[in-house]
Amino acid sequence: MSVLEEVDVPVSAEACSLDNYLVLPDNSMDERIAAARRALGKTTILLGHHYQRDEVIRFADFTGDSYKLSKVAAETDANYIVFCGVHFMAESADILAHEGQQVILPDLNAGCSMADMAEIGQVEECWETLLDAGVSEGEILPLTYMNSSAAIKAFCGERGGLVCTSSNARRAFEWAFARAQKILFLPDQHLGRNTGHAMGIPLDEMTVYDPWQSFAGIGGGITRERLRAAKVILWKGHCSVHQRFLPEHVDNVRAKYPGIQVIVHPECRLEVCEKADALGSTERLIKIVREAPQGSSFAIGTEIHLVNRLAKEFAPLGKKVVTLDDAGCLCTTMYRISPQHLAWALENLVEGRVVNRIQVRDDVKYWARAALDRMLEIRA
Ligand code: SF4
Repeated sequence: MSVLEEVDVPVSAEACSLDNYLVLPDNSMDERIAAARRALGKTTILLGHHYQRDEVIRFADFTGDSYKLSKVAAETDANYIVFCGVHFMAESADILAHEGQQVILPDLNAGCSMADMAEIGQVEECWETLLDAGVSEGEILPLTYMNSSAAIKAFCGERGGLVCTSSNARRAFEWAFARAQKILFLPDQHLGRNTGHAMGIPLDEMTVYDPWQSFAGIGGGITRERLRAAKVILWKGHCSVHQRFLPEHVDNVRAKYPGIQVIVHPECRLEVCEKADALGSTERLIKIVREAPQGSSFAIGTEIHLVNRLAKEFAPLGKKVVTLDDAGCLCTTMYRISPQHLAWALENLVEGRVVNRIQVRDDVKYWARAALDRMLEIRA
């Protein structure tokens, strides 16, 4: 008898085919997910990123941003880590996992458009371009945002660099500048620029490397002189959700709600961050709202599911939360984790089948782990 039958959940030979789940309505999944969670007990931990939809995140044992969830993943003893987030997060969990632990991503199509903007071959080519331009290996360190493939994390780890998140990007920059004169920052130009700017690095000492451009035969679309002179070389990547916020949205929301505080994620453009009252990781944005006095109001520039959740949670406490852009910004890849995918992954697990396992190759894992360990050492 399967564990599902023990907890009175109907099981048939075909029950665990994904197609059978996708035709069912969202609200029919709740009891099945809850039953599977009970059946799996402490063998399984469910992690939920703040941008997940309500129907999924309500089942998470831990919610958080990618930094917080990576710490939980590194510390848990559970056999299975079901990651309700996107692909690079599940990869990071696998890199940090102990021997024997397995990481599951309920939908393999849950990627990240920003992470996809930097491929390892392009990054290797960029590094060669830098060396050809006369930048020495000892002079520059590669840093990558968590939102990147395991191969890019390994690239950074092998060259003495590290991973950072929006919670600890500044510490990571300080760590790198204590060891080298220059940084190659992958793949989010906005987080890199905002971090450098907040540290007082002039904008003309930061340059953007575009992997799709070349200038007089030199990759990146920038001259050798510029590459040599820049203190921070920013990869030309962005988050399609956060880059949509514009300075006009800040002006509009302030005109509509006088006295409102604008708080935004540092994946937003510099022009938006400069106009905002505060910026921070999703954890920090939540903390700002939580600690504000009753009667406060906030326009938040981040993913719409989190904003809507905060609006609902804090309305009874007399705090108003609205989105910075009325059109709302949805992360379509986070949204791919549906209750049906979650139920499918969990019920298969109850039946002893691991579906959608995320496994990073051992050689990649070694250096990616080194880069992630350095990040965990510098803390948030
Ligand atoms: S919000 Fe942006 S950076 Fe985050 S997962 Fe979605 S596309 Fe990637």
